[in-house]
Amino acid sequence: MTGIDSMNPQNPPLSDEALMAMALEAAREAAAMGEVPVGAVILDPATGQVIACAGNGTIGAHDPTAHAEILALRAAGAALGNYRLTDLTLVVTLEPCAMCAGAISHARIGRLIYGADDPKGGAVAHGPRYFDQPTCHWRPEVLGGVMAEESAAILREFFKQRRDVRAGSLADSGMIREVRGAG
Ligand SMILES: [Zn+2]
Repeated sequence: MTGIDSMNPQNPPLSDEALMAMALEAAREAAAMGEVPVGAVILDPATGQVIACAGNGTIGAHDPTAHAEILALRAAGAALGNYRLTDLTLVVTLEPCAMCAGAISHARIGRLIYGADDPKGGAVAHGPRYFDQPTCHWRPEVLGGVMAEESAAILREFFKQRRDVRAGSLADSGMIREVRGAG
């Protein structure tokens, strides 16, 4: 979570790219905590105010639902005192999964902007294509691919580092076995 007041230059209105830059910053903060680097911000386009900002928090919170979008939706609902976030804009660095797409629809988000495509876990342009289903009763306007390369690069780097660490610890455990075998 990031302080919000410091992120609200009043004029001019924040561009999609400026909002995505904030989401990317939240993703980087998540990565620093060992979380999968995905970040989200919620903007009230009527006032130009960013009312919520969050990075993924599943591991630290022991909460499989603590995706960046869910945490941002919860923070925005608490800030506004309303479970409907009608016509607000949600900006997230990665294509939302089925859970988050469902939550975005329940919240009545007006506009969804996302960065990188997620062919494996995404549910907007891939997989279940949640908003295209007849059982989806609220569809936000969707814009994907905003600063997609930056969003994907953060994820690639995070998973590469994790693989490197795992490969290192596997090598270590192999060495331990060898030493024991020799004894
Ligand atoms: Zn999600």
